[in-house]
Amino acid sequence: MSMDLLKDKSLFRQAAFINGQWVEQTAHGKYALRNPATGEVLVELPVCREAETEFAIESAHEAFQRWSKVTAKQRAEIVNRWYQLVVEHKEDLATLITLEEGKPLAEARGEIDYAASFLQWFSEEAKRVRGDVIPAPKDSQRIVALKQPIGVCAAITPWNFPAAMITRKAGPALAAGCSMVVKPASQTPLTALALAELAQRAGVPTGVFSVVTGNATRPVGNVLTGHPLVRKITFTGSTEVGRVLLAQSAETIKKCSMELGGNAPLIVFEDADLDLAVEGILNAKFRNTGQSCIAANRVLIQDGIYEQLAARLAARAAELKVGNGLEAGVQIGPMIDEAAVGKVEEHLQNAVAGGARVLAGGRRHALGGAFFEPTVVADVALGMTIAREETFGPVMPLLRFRDEAEAIAMANDTDFGLAAYLFSKDAARIWRTAEALETGMVGINTGLISSEVAPFGGIKQSGLGREGSHYGIDEFLEIKYLCWDGVTPV
Ligand code: NAP
Repeated sequence: MSMDLLKDKSLFRQAAFINGQWVEQTAHGKYALRNPATGEVLVELPVCREAETEFAIESAHEAFQRWSKVTAKQRAEIVNRWYQLVVEHKEDLATLITLEEGKPLAEARGEIDYAASFLQWFSEEAKRVRGDVIPAPKDSQRIVALKQPIGVCAAITPWNFPAAMITRKAGPALAAGCSMVVKPASQTPLTALALAELAQRAGVPTGVFSVVTGNATRPVGNVLTGHPLVRKITFTGSTEVGRVLLAQSAETIKKCSMELGGNAPLIVFEDADLDLAVEGILNAKFRNTGQSCIAANRVLIQDGIYEQLAARLAARAAELKVGNGLEAGVQIGPMIDEAAVGKVEEHLQNAVAGGARVLAGGRRHALGGAFFEPTVVADVALGMTIAREETFGPVMPLLRFRDEAEAIAMANDTDFGLAAYLFSKDAARIWRTAEALETGMVGINTGLISSEVAPFGGIKQSGLGREGSHYGIDEFLEIKYLCWDGVTPV
């Protein structure tokens, strides 16, 4: 039993969490959750639909009336307690992530640190939400801007970071005084439910944080985006689904933040420190088996170092250990499901048919199931599917460029604009290139850019809004301006 792997068995929840209650059954039956490494059924969870989602929203609305009036200091203490409990239960939470998502345990532990950091950061930010006193145009007037929590927030999250994509939203929302209903990805609800258990233990009041489970994705999404009591939609997932949710939210004019898909370019100039570049590229590509929104999707290498760097990358990729993420030393876990493997195969076939060369990997892994070999493919052209769409797998396409202008033009030749990376030792070139890249984030001489202190988010079709940093809490606040007249001078 998977539950036996946990020290604290009560973190393995088999129920939705609505209005402070564990809902073990609904009228809509259960669905099976599978371990992507083994294909085994981990658990069967209740399917929530319209009625359960409406109830979660209504109870979140009631809870909001009280939670928004709790002092910032008290809210900070509760969110901080939640942070501490997440850290205390790091090992169990990481095990849950590996079981349901497949990433190697070491990476899952890293995700818990990252997830916890948002609760800590926003518990601190809760006390720093300040308004403004603005010089008035008349001497009888005073003008004040207040910041107030927006209300009930609905969070819809992806499977690839089952903990962090929730705390990056719930941390600032609860710190600001909002309540939240989370619809986690149907493939990774166990981590979300364990977070709910810990939130309850931390003293998050009834109804402030609910989790609806199930695979009735559209009915639940329709209620979350259509319900008049929901004031904010915060979504992380694909651009395709983001577009649908934005359209659905337009009916009731909800505030929306959208963390969507990417097609990150990673540029290596001839003057780069190649040791640093190799490590950076491997980090930016293979983390979470390539299933990250900021994964390098196109590695652009300058002519003079192309073959040398390609050979080094291929050698390193071939050494990566593939296996069940629970086994020691594994660096590449399974992909999330068969459909994801199919997409990788399709992208590769299209590239090879167009003249690309496979330097390492290139096939389903001998382990079978959802395992795919870490792959490096050279001579990729910008027009190929692999360079135009987010591959979301352990495949590194290498492209070639002549000069800085061409690299920038190639990097920007996409509708996406989430992250980009560049490797160079020339300060002027770094400035010029970083400024010219059409993305929300730029990693310079590094492949790891995520941190709770920095604003995460994209431009173009990669999204709206920012998460993390001191900007992140603004997404959950409204500004109300008071125009106060009659302060007649004496
Ligand atoms: P996805 O298919 O867009 O799903 C994301 C979430 O949306 C899941 O909870 C999914 O539910 C839900 N969903 C799908 N259709 C819906 C609908 N019609 N109404 C309401 N909810 C709906 O994305 P994914 O495959 O889970 O995640 C991978 C994508 O996320 C990639 O494109 C990646 O780049 C992006 N991502 C972006 C960031 C960022 O910060 N920018 C971070 C991580 C991932 P079900 O699970 O029930 O289908």
